[in-house]
Amino acid sequence: MTADQPTPDQPSTAVEIARAVRGKQLKATAVTAAALERAKAQNPALNAFLHLFQDRAMSAAAAVDSRIESGEADSLPLAGVPIAIKDNICLGPDLREKGDSRGYGGPTTCGSRILEHYHAPFTATAAQRLIDAGAILIGKTNMDEFAMGSSTEHSAFGPTRNPHDHSRVPGGSSGGSAAAVAAGITPVALGSDTGGSIRQPAAFCGLVGVKPTYGRISRYGLVAYASSLDQIGPLAANVTDAAAILDIICGDDPLDSTAAPRFAPDLTSGLDKPVENLVIGVPLQARSDANHPAVAAALDAAIEKYKAMGAEIIDIDLPLLDHAVAAYYIVAPAEASSNLARYDGIRYGRRAELSNKAALADVYTRSRAEGFGKEVQRRIMLGTHVLSSGYYDAYYNTALQVRAKLLAEFTAAFEPPAACHAILMPATPGPAFRIGEKTTDPLAMYLEDIYTVAVNLAGLPALTMPASTADIDGAKLPIGVQLIGRPFEESTLLRTARMLEMV
Ligand code: GLN
Repeated sequence: MTADQPTPDQPSTAVEIARAVRGKQLKATAVTAAALERAKAQNPALNAFLHLFQDRAMSAAAAVDSRIESGEADSLPLAGVPIAIKDNICLGPDLREKGDSRGYGGPTTCGSRILEHYHAPFTATAAQRLIDAGAILIGKTNMDEFAMGSSTEHSAFGPTRNPHDHSRVPGGSSGGSAAAVAAGITPVALGSDTGGSIRQPAAFCGLVGVKPTYGRISRYGLVAYASSLDQIGPLAANVTDAAAILDIICGDDPLDSTAAPRFAPDLTSGLDKPVENLVIGVPLQARSDANHPAVAAALDAAIEKYKAMGAEIIDIDLPLLDHAVAAYYIVAPAEASSNLARYDGIRYGRRAELSNKAALADVYTRSRAEGFGKEVQRRIMLGTHVLSSGYYDAYYNTALQVRAKLLAEFTAAFEPPAACHAILMPATPGPAFRIGEKTTDPLAMYLEDIYTVAVNLAGLPALTMPASTADIDGAKLPIGVQLIGRPFEESTLLRTARMLEMV
């Protein structure tokens, strides 16, 4: 089964839609109504959306149309662009009755029973910037519970299906966002990436997915999984749309002390300009025998295309890449165990029904046992174990040392003599796997992240993009490649990706 795309005569990319709405050739209300219709028609099969903003999205679109009519197009760069938002990104209350155009309301569940009825009192900075730019948020998307997973099968609200083959996973944890874009429901979506959760689903669904440099985008209003790794970013059908979204959501934020005090980049204007004297490093470790043949072939094809464009391709050695999964699955659960301590049945969300005489400790333990799914419980136990006295040095501190050395290895590749502009490697070891194939084997699921987690540990910007399609068991499945850039050089990274996209 192939992904349904909008009809060719309608603008379908974010940039085209915004241009048409700003130029009054198209109404935001018409675009929004069509996106909502597509979502309603396709969601029973895909389970990409947990929540649709039918009325709210239509009134936001009407407000955009009237602002365009009154000559405000210049302040609405994303006018009328329908966007899907991962359900760990908070959207504050609907404030229409107060005459306030901000706020969408709706729950922020994180794919978890424990937050099933949680309504955030505030809106994430990244989402607010999209709203302010005239984008229309049409709904919240499914995800692995608390962003822990690589397939969206760990959602408390059922798995999402890959639009290219409904028997397969869309990847995770931002699988709902990836499916929404791959099915042509919205041109772009927001996801979050702690260890690959934007890039891996983008690769499985044939999309461009960008994890910016740590600190590039405010995490305010993103429900924390592992705070030293989490980043928000876009999933889009092409590099240009991803850049257009990044231009809006990047930048410092007084509400997030880890947001970098740097100017937001202008990523769109120079995007089509090729990088001069491009040097691309390919890690020896990326040529693993464990790669699916289609992944190895896609990597080779990308290398040949860059060579044909005159780029210099060099081998680089990143020995610690082989240890990144082990380090990540210590650091991330350690931070998660601390971040998720707040869900105690008292301050947030679901509380177990107990008699009045129940001890306080029972309220905590029963609420957490009922509210968290198995994978989240596994991570909390892993995290508390590696942080416990007696094991802290052996696990947590060792993982931090691996993290520091991994960054040093990447830095060496970006500095002379290698001086790579970007590193090219697979996005994932294989194509989208079947629903249920890896759910009983957590280690097999963790190994899916072998090419993505190192980037988060090092805080670098990276993206995945479609490189080819492969015939696998009767399905045509997209195969992605990954490009990793120098810190805060998203501009070079996206231009490098655009070069490959254009050939
Ligand atoms: N698959 C990884 C994990 O399960 C990454 C998840 C993410 O990036 N949020 O932790």
